[in-house]
Amino acid sequence: MRLCLTCGCVDEHRDCALVPAPRTGPEKVQRVQRALGDVDRQLFALKMSKEPPTRLTLLALLSAEGQLERFQAKDLADFGQKRAYNLIETALKDKRKAVEEALGDPARGLADTFSFTKKAIELVFKIQTAKLDALSFDATALAALPIHPVQAARSKGATLSAICRELDERLEETRPLDKRASGWGLKNLTALVTGKEPVEYPPELVSTGGLSVLGAIVGRGPASKRASAATQFKLLGDAFRERLYLLAANPIVLRRSSNVSQCEEAWRKHLAGPGATRWEEIKRSQQDVLAYFLGPIPDIGTKLEEALQEIAKRSRTAQLPAGLVAFEKLALEDWETLARAYFLIFEVVVADASSGEGVVWDKVVRGIVERKTGGAVDAAARASVVAEVRDAWLKRHPAGEAPKA
Ligand SMILES: [Zn+2]
Repeated sequence: MRLCLTCGCVDEHRDCALVPAPRTGPEKVQRVQRALGDVDRQLFALKMSKEPPTRLTLLALLSAEGQLERFQAKDLADFGQKRAYNLIETALKDKRKAVEEALGDPARGLADTFSFTKKAIELVFKIQTAKLDALSFDATALAALPIHPVQAARSKGATLSAICRELDERLEETRPLDKRASGWGLKNLTALVTGKEPVEYPPELVSTGGLSVLGAIVGRGPASKRASAATQFKLLGDAFRERLYLLAANPIVLRRSSNVSQCEEAWRKHLAGPGATRWEEIKRSQQDVLAYFLGPIPDIGTKLEEALQEIAKRSRTAQLPAGLVAFEKLALEDWETLARAYFLIFEVVVADASSGEGVVWDKVVRGIVERKTGGAVDAAARASVVAEVRDAWLKRHPAGEAPKA
């Protein structure tokens, strides 16, 4: 099968965990050399073969041409290598033309069919994996929030659109918490979201005003005011952490849900105009092209979508599905990062700051709150957003760093 189940590409890998893109010059050279070697061997085998060329021969040559297009001569280091590249590229083109001519009319247009079908298989497979990802996404952590649970997320396999709707309601309900949290001042922010005592008390919360004499008698003096403010602070922290969690979950869940419609939209575009008729024609009478990419599949012309769904399913069963990191599993540093990132952005809207210092909420929350397929947070992405937010925060609030308790 020429479809990669990891990146979903046919005949190549794009953003693929199996085949990481080459980083260094020598790696690039090696990659091009290997591709060249493959094509060279293929051409040699054809030259030696006594069999007349078939459509399959032509398909293989088209694959080889695609490979050379992706591995360019400009990555090669010296003149000799580039010359070898050009020789093989020309030989390949000549051979492809010769085979096309030998096959005559029936092979006319096979090159177009080749690229149309390659794209079609990738798009159909993408829809299937996006649907599976949306269906298997584990958002159950949202239902476990003690104060503001999202009930729709209770069962696995709940539709993400229902979860999104309820998430919206919880976000609306918890909106007033933003003002109360910022009322405690930025110096208290880390303490607020990590369950610590306030670093300092805003004067209006602890001042006794004109009540001092009476207040002292009935137990509302500075000491008890302070104690009650500390309790308020703790309760506000509990609720505000949940708001941050809801705010973090929102773009992650939305993205999964809109990914399906984006894939379907791309597919509709591919079938626009003459595309739909063409696709039907390929499934009806050019099944050898489908089989070339996907291997032997019974009733490939009529059962292609189902077959790709099965293939997508099988490729995913072994792994834990993606989901949200449980609320109570987030570390103190995670909470501090989320709170700071949120306030950097919040200040832009409310407190008239000129920028969020380049902090992007989607990116931050994907680094901290999203478990990838396989069940874990991407440790490198997490470390990078933690550092990014810390730098941005210290740039904006050079004196706002709270002393570590
Ligand atoms: Zn791949």
